[in-house]
Amino acid sequence: MPATQCPRLRGKTALVTGAARGIGLAIAEAFAREGADVLLTDIAVAEGEAAAARIGCRFHKLDVRLETDWDAIARVLPCADIVVNNAGITGFESSPGPHDPENASLADWRAVHATNLDGTFLGCRYAIRAMKEAGRGSIINISSRSGLVGIPGAAAYASSKAAIRNHTKSVALWCAQNGWAIRCNSIHPAAILTPMWEPLLGTGPEREVNMAAFVADTPLRRFGTAEEVAALAVLLASDEVTYITGAELNIDGGLLAGSAAAPG
Ligand code: NAP
Repeated sequence: MPATQCPRLRGKTALVTGAARGIGLAIAEAFAREGADVLLTDIAVAEGEAAAARIGCRFHKLDVRLETDWDAIARVLPCADIVVNNAGITGFESSPGPHDPENASLADWRAVHATNLDGTFLGCRYAIRAMKEAGRGSIINISSRSGLVGIPGAAAYASSKAAIRNHTKSVALWCAQNGWAIRCNSIHPAAILTPMWEPLLGTGPEREVNMAAFVADTPLRRFGTAEEVAALAVLLASDEVTYITGAELNIDGGLLAGSAAAPG
C-alpha cells in the first residue's frame, strides 16, 4: 500500500509487540509508512531483527509476560505516543490441548492468560507511564472476535481476549479520569490470514477446502488480511479519531452482525 502524501503518524513514536510476523508486522509496517518512528518488539529475535531491518526501524526483544522485559523497554523508550499490545497465542502452539472448559489443564489455561492478559496489562501499564507526561497517546489492544463470544474448544483464549476487552475500558476511563488524552481501544479481528493459521490449513489440495470451511459462516466469505487490521490500527493511532476511547472495533467480515441466513 503506498504511503499517503501527508503521513498520518509523522512525529509519533510507536511500540508494537509480537511484531516479527503476522498482524503485528503489518501494523509496524503501516505505522512506519505513515511516518512513525517504530520500535518493533517480539520474543522471536532473529525474525524480529530481520523484519525491522526490512522496514527500516528499530528492534528490541520483549517477552510481554515478563515485567523485567517491560522495565528494559521503559529504559529504551521512556516516552511513546502509540503502543499496540498485539502479542498473543491461542494455546495450541505449545500444547495440543484439550482446551475445552471440562478438560483443559490449569497449566495450559495459565499459559494463555500469561501471554494474552498479563502481557496486555503490563503493556497498558507501561504505555500509561510512557504517555502521561505528554498527557496524550493511543493504546491499541488486539483482542479478538473470540473475546465477544464463547469458544468451547479454546476456552482460555476466549477468556483472555474477553478480559482484554474489559481491561481496555478500565484503562480508557482511568486515563480520562486523570485528565489525560490517552485513548485506549480494542480491535476484535475474526479470521485473519497470518502464519498462526498455517498448521490448520495444510499445503496440499485440502488447503482451499479448509480455507472455505473456516470462513463459511463469514458474510464476506473470505479471510481478512493483516493489512486490513493494520489500516484500522493506523486510524486509531492517528489524530483523526481523538474522541474514540474505550471502544471495541470489530473487523470480521460481518461475522458478528447477525445471521446471514434468510428468514423462513
Ligand atoms: P502470529 O502470526 O502467531 O504472530 C504472533 C507473534 O507474537 C509471533 O511473532 C510470536 O512469536 C509473538 N509472541 C508470542 N508470544 C509472545 C510473547 N510472550 N511476547 C512477545 N511476543 C510473543 O499471530 P497473529 O495471527 O499475527 O495474531 C496477532 C494478534 O491478533 C494476537 O493477539 C491474536 O490473538 C490476535 N488475533 C488474530 C486473529 C487471526 O485470525 N490471525 C484473529 C483474532 C485475533 P513466536 O512465533 O516466536 O511465538
